[in-house]
Parts: sequence; structure tokens; C-alpha cells
Amino acid sequence: MLGLKRAIFSFIKNAELKQKEYPHFPECIRTIIKRKKGSKDLYNVFLSNINSIYKLNTKWNALLQLGENFDWKSVFMSISNCTKDSKLLWFQYRIFYRILATNNYLFKCKITTNNTCNLCKQEVESIEHLFFYCAKSNEIWKQFEQMLLSQCNMNVNLTLTDILLGCTREKYHALNLMILLIKQYIFYKSRKSNVLSIDEIKKCLLAYHQTEKWSHGINMKQNQFTLRWRMFSNLFS
Ligand SMILES: [Zn+2]
Repeated sequence: MLGLKRAIFSFIKNAELKQKEYPHFPECIRTIIKRKKGSKDLYNVFLSNINSIYKLNTKWNALLQLGENFDWKSVFMSISNCTKDSKLLWFQYRIFYRILATNNYLFKCKITTNNTCNLCKQEVESIEHLFFYCAKSNEIWKQFEQMLLSQCNMNVNLTLTDILLGCTREKYHALNLMILLIKQYIFYKSRKSNVLSIDEIKKCLLAYHQTEKWSHGINMKQNQFTLRWRMFSNLFS
């Protein structure tokens, strides 16, 4: 937390922002920087967290038509089981808490005047649009599904819920990890250009798979690695 505080204060200093310019910061950032020392404000947020999670679940329920019996526990389990990579987990939590800096979010925070999708330049760039409804990202998911069918003999039809919250139907932790990596690719690529490439995605997945193989190897966890990726080994052979 200290590192996070330091990074935010350093950003404010570098951007030469004054106190009155903070209001456009998201609520969570303003809470963190409220005091230079101590974490009292954060503890208060945690204490009221049960309420905010409930509100968030209600928002997702309405947006994705999840139904009253939707298994939220499985969603959190699938996120934490698919990776321990803190950068990836933070990316997924920003989606879950709806604080990912899409153009629509930045527009609402008054940081940008344009809320249009960087990829198709036609629709509002919400989380749902950027990762699923946009024709360009939707094409990527179709190509990914085709890869799974032709190389792994796996017939997967990814829904909006699978892509945004993770696939909880089966215990495919590696599949959720790949979905997360593809979302991360779509997001960062869309900040710089409007071109997405399945070949680049294959390279990203291969590089991540190799890194996992290496890290499991040095930790003597080869069996765990093999078990984790067994359904998808053809993608990397
Ligand atoms: Zn779009």
C-alpha cells in the first residue's frame, strides 16, 4: 500500500496537479491519497465493503441477467485459481469493480471528451462493448474459439459473462487465464491502435505458457503445470 501511495503522490507531483484538481480522480484513488500517512480511510472502506460488493453484484446481475442463484463464490474462486500474477489479478479486479480506464469511464471522470471505442470508432467504449460487443474484439474471440476447436477438439462458446467474469462452468483454470490474457491484450492494444491480431495473441499466450513452464520447473511443480494445461497442450506444441 505504501508503494501505491508513493506512486500516486509521485504522479501528482510530476503532473504538477494542485489540490483542487483532484476531484476528477476515481473515488478509490481519492481515498488512498486522503492522508499522506496511515490507512484509517482504507480500513473504513473495508469495513463498509460488504455493502459495496452487494451493490456491485446487483449491477452485474442487472447487466448480465445473471439471476438470483448466480454463484459469485465461483467467480472469485476462478479468478484467484487461474493466476497468482498480481498485475493480471489487478486488471481483472478493475473490470470487476468497473474502474478500468475505458473511454467511457474516463469520459465520466471528465478526463477525456471522447467516449467512443478506439477499435471500431462507432460505439461508446464501455467494458461490455470493448471486450465483447465490438466487432473487432468479437472477431478475436471467434478466432480463439476456432483455435480451441481445431487444435484441442474443444467446442467452447464464450458468453459475455464468461469473458468479463471468467468461465465458471468447468474447472478450466488455464482457459480463464487465456481469456484474461486476451482481454489484457485487447485493452492495451486498443490504447495504441485499432488493429487486433490473433497471431500476436498466439505469441503472447505462448510466451506466458513458457514462463509458467519455467516457473513451475524451478519450483519442482511440473506435474501441477502438466495438469493445468493438459486440455490445451496442442496450442503450444
Ligand atoms: Zn468498438
